[in-house]
This record gives sequence, C-alpha cells and structure tokens, in this order.
Amino acid sequence: MDHFHYCEGQYFAEGVSFARIASTVGTPCYVYSRAILEQRWRLFNDAFGDYPHRIHYAVKANGNLAILKLLCQMGSGFDIVSGGELERVLKAGGRPDDMVFSGVGKRESEITTALEAGIHCINVESAAELDRVNRIAGTLGAVADLALRINPDVDPHTHPYIATGLRENKFGIPIDEVPDLVRQAHDANHVNIIGLACHIGSQLTELSPFVAALDRVLELVFSLRQEGLQLKHLDIGGGLGIRYGDETPPEPDAYVKALLNTLSARQCNLPLFIEPGRAIVGNAGVLLTRVEYLKSAQSHQFAVVDAAMNDLLRPALYGAHHRVIEVSPADVEPTTYDVVGPICETADFLSRSQRLSISPGDLLVVQSVGAYGSAMSSNYNSRPRSAEVIVEGDKFHVVRRHETLSQLYQNESTLPD
Ligand SMILES: *Cc1c(COP(=O)(O)O)cnc(C)c1O
Repeated sequence: MDHFHYCEGQYFAEGVSFARIASTVGTPCYVYSRAILEQRWRLFNDAFGDYPHRIHYAVKANGNLAILKLLCQMGSGFDIVSGGELERVLKAGGRPDDMVFSGVGKRESEITTALEAGIHCINVESAAELDRVNRIAGTLGAVADLALRINPDVDPHTHPYIATGLRENKFGIPIDEVPDLVRQAHDANHVNIIGLACHIGSQLTELSPFVAALDRVLELVFSLRQEGLQLKHLDIGGGLGIRYGDETPPEPDAYVKALLNTLSARQCNLPLFIEPGRAIVGNAGVLLTRVEYLKSAQSHQFAVVDAAMNDLLRPALYGAHHRVIEVSPADVEPTTYDVVGPICETADFLSRSQRLSISPGDLLVVQSVGAYGSAMSSNYNSRPRSAEVIVEGDKFHVVRRHETLSQLYQNESTLPD
C-alpha cells in the first residue's frame, strides 16, 4: 500500500489529509510517514537474513530527534559526521557503541568527545588524522578502535558534487597508501585497526559501482591479512539511490544480495556494515507548501509558493528534480509551471515544468524530500526554518516547531554604545 495517496480527490499521508496538516501546523512544513520510514529500514535489515551486519543510518540525511528515536527503537545504529550529530543521537537514546564516526575533518574536540562516549569506531581518512586520534587516545589513556576509510577510485555515475570515491575526491585513503597507514597504526600505541570502510557517493542507481568498490576492499583485506592484520568488519558506506522521477534504482534487497554475493564469491564472512541515509528517509518525506501567486513572464508560467530554496536546497545546489503534485486538484485547465519560492535568487526554484491544475491559495506537495531536505535548510532571507511533522496512522505529531522570528537573531548582538 502506498502511504502517500489520493482519496476522494484529496492527498493523504497515511490516514491524515494534507489539508488538515496545513490548517493546524501551517505551511511550509515537512511531513514524514512513520510507516514508510520503518518499512524502508526493515527492507535493508531483512535482506541480510542471518548474515552478521549492522545498519548505521547516516544521520546527515535527516537528523530530526523523532526520526532518530524511531530508528533506535528498531535497532538501528548510526553513521555520524560531527560532534553535533553525536549529541543528537545520544539525545535520541542511541548507544555510542552503535555509532561510527565518518568525515575528512574531525576536530580534536569531536574526537575527544567521541572516544569519551565510547563510540564503536572512528573511520579515519588520512595519516594525519590517525596521528591525531592516537595522540588524543593517549591522553585519555585509551586505545581507539579505527576503520580505515579507503578511496577505491570507483566512478559512482552520479552528480559530481555527491561522488566521493574517485581518486581526485577529498575523501578516503588512496589504496596504495593503506599499507603505510597500517604500519603507522601498528607502531602507535593507542589505536587499533578493526575494519575497512568506504563510501563512494550518493544517489547511485546501479549496483556495479558498489560491487566494484567492495571488490577493491576485499583485495585489500586479503593482502593485509598476509601482513598479519585481522579485521573485524567491513563497511561499504551508504549511497543507494531513490526514485525522484523516472530513475529505476535497485531495491534494498537486491543491493544487499549483491553485496553478500560479492563477499561469498571471495569466501569472506566478515560482518558487513552499511550506512544508508537517502534510501531510508528520502521517499518517506514531502514538503507541503501553499501557492501564493500565479504569474507569467514571456513563455514561462510561475507558481510562486511559500517554500523556498532555504527550505529545500537540492534543486539549486544539484539541479535536482522533485515532482510536485496538487493536494486537491482545482477545477481549472492544467498548465505547465515552474514552481518557485520568494527568495531573491534565480536559483530559487523547487521544480521546473510541472503540469498542475491550481489557483492561488492551493496546497502543493513536493515529493521525495525526506533526505537532505530539512537537514540542509537555512535562514537565508531571514526566513524561519519550517516545521516537521510525523504522521502515524490517523494521527500526526509536530516533531519540530516552526522557528520564531526572534530565534532568527537570538545569538546576535549589536556593538556597545
Ligand atoms: C553521506 C554519507 C552516507 C549516506 O549517503 P546516502 O546517499 O544518503 O545513503 C553514508 N556514509 C558516509 C560516510 C556519508 O558521507
């Protein structure tokens, strides 16, 4: 059953009409379906069967506390990329031992907090970071468990801004430098390499780059084994794509099966970690917005809505495509609109060339924005960030209130007189 659906000419999230959410919460607002979120996580988890694994949800895709808590309750772990995300997951009830810490630029204070909290492992991305972790663990009188994030130099066939596993990207350790880092770790007293990790990019719609990356990791596992290094896990990162328009990404089941087949072809039975973000929350969320004006310029028709690029940056940042649909189609001729926000930037569009039957005041839904939607929102143009709502059955809960105007400048001050 589709949890976002029309019923008698009205669009619903599960058992709640969007008109009801708009009249109680206001617009713009993000709306998530609990059922979709949980179903997506389960699809990944079930696909593993009894193969030892962990799912570390990538918090950066959507770090709302309520979402993190639902995932915690299902038994998810978390992939974090900052001290702020560590704080969020702890606040939501996550266990430090269920977290891995990724990212190229971890600060001293972030590493210290993560080690003190007892995080499962730090995914190290350079010799300099390994050195830093070793030093900090030393001052804490601890031994830090690490995974080396390698750069497998695989083309993920995705938007260049979200490709991360190519040699020229800033991410990961080049494969030929790994033996040196293993030696460096061996000589250091406060680090212990327990795994190898990689993450080659986001919104991948084919399986072959994942398989190629895992193959590279496995070659390394065997060569390191010959040097006496015994690993405890492999981490293939996140990146599985979702459907925004007419893409046909693999389902989580096919993705996991392809990974497990690659492991078994190489007779590897190490536990496998994955870090999906987008593929769990992306299609579990939409952005509800109201049409303020309809206007035309030359051959273009514009629907000016109350959501903008500060709410949803993906179209401006990546040229990303999101479908827009009516909450309740009006009884007017369908027209092709560019759906744009009120911000003073030509890049402020939510979607182009959408065929819609609308009048001013109507509600629209921007689809597939659960990942990298609210998480990337800002206050540009002094616009308060939007509310977030989770629907469960015929109930809904505000899980983030609209920001107030005074919150916009609460950390600012003027010079002394
Ligand atoms: C962003 C990121 C992810 C999640 O990527 P998705 O495409 O949302 O699945 C996982 N791991 C790392 C290290 C990341 O940077």
